Amino acid sequence: MRTYPCTCGNTLYFDNTQCLRCGSAVGWCPECSAIAPLVPGQTDGAWQCGQCGAVLALCHNYAVEAVCNRCVPVGAAGGLCDCCVHNEVIPDLSVEGHRERWAELEGAKRRVFHSLDLLGLPRGRPGEDGLLPLTFDFKADALPDAGLWRPTAGDEKVYTGHAGGKITINVKEADTVEREKLRVDLNESHRTLIGHFRHEIGHYYWEVLVRNRDEARSVQMFGDHENPSYADALERYYAEGPRPDWPGNYISAYASMHPWEDFAETFAHYLDMVSVLDTAIHLGLTSAPPREDLDAQLEAFRVLGLALNELNREMGLLDLVPEVPSPAVVEKLRYVHGLCMGSNGQD
Ligand SMILES: [Zn+2]
Ligand SMILES: [Zn+2]
Ligand SMILES: [Zn+2]
Ligand SMILES: [Zn+2]
Repeated sequence: MRTYPCTCGNTLYFDNTQCLRCGSAVGWCPECSAIAPLVPGQTDGAWQCGQCGAVLALCHNYAVEAVCNRCVPVGAAGGLCDCCVHNEVIPDLSVEGHRERWAELEGAKRRVFHSLDLLGLPRGRPGEDGLLPLTFDFKADALPDAGLWRPTAGDEKVYTGHAGGKITINVKEADTVEREKLRVDLNESHRTLIGHFRHEIGHYYWEVLVRNRDEARSVQMFGDHENPSYADALERYYAEGPRPDWPGNYISAYASMHPWEDFAETFAHYLDMVSVLDTAIHLGLTSAPPREDLDAQLEAFRVLGLALNELNREMGLLDLVPEVPSPAVVEKLRYVHGLCMGSNGQD
């Protein structure tokens, strides 16, 4: 992620709500697309961007719920920012710990939306015609005696996943201990909240950019998504495990489950690369490869990944970039890259 200057000279970070030097309130200004200091405005609840002067209000989830740091133009319908407006279900905040987990979820979502914006990828807003609306449900497994999400409750186990534009995330994924347990159980090289968002949003972009538009090429690249059916593939995966040939052909073991999972895993890796490179370029750690040149980006990411892995090992942490894309995976990444480049400017 990039960093941003405060008017006092301090550095502001993407998640900041306050400048730690001058004490200014801080938020994301939709006018200058930056984290900026906020100056109290003339009227109650109004603020002015300290960088571009835009008159702003805090997102409802910033002002009231303290889980967001974005601003909206004054009078924006619903008072929710361009990230929060996609929420349909939020965790039940009367449950201890849920507000903190929700804040983690929103933080990861904002980062992912930022890379989507970098790529110029469109997303459908709920309640508007046109593109498939992108919505989020953040839910906890319901216990028989307590509903754990708003506004509905029932006896239900919550599966993280995507269906028809709706991304559901089990809030326990925002719990470090729970998530690490699942990571070890499922034998994954890493499992992160932001990784979940990147994967699930990959399913959304299959719906938006591939379905009824480019399915034939997608079948050539990832295999036939209709045969076997998703349900059959899922059952086989959990009965028999990943395909033995997965390391040469897939970015992860899970990607070998079904063509849709292959696409989502590949898409997530592409977003990993785009966002890590953007941060590294901004910090002066690498020079900027041309946007359209996938091979140059992959090479920059490879070199950077080697250095980052060594640094992590020095600190006893998991490898930051464990994946080494095989030639087959590079071709899948090239397909995703082409989709992302082609969607630029599309509404
Ligand atoms: Zn400051
Ligand atoms: Zn501004
Ligand atoms: Zn917001
Ligand atoms: Zn998936």
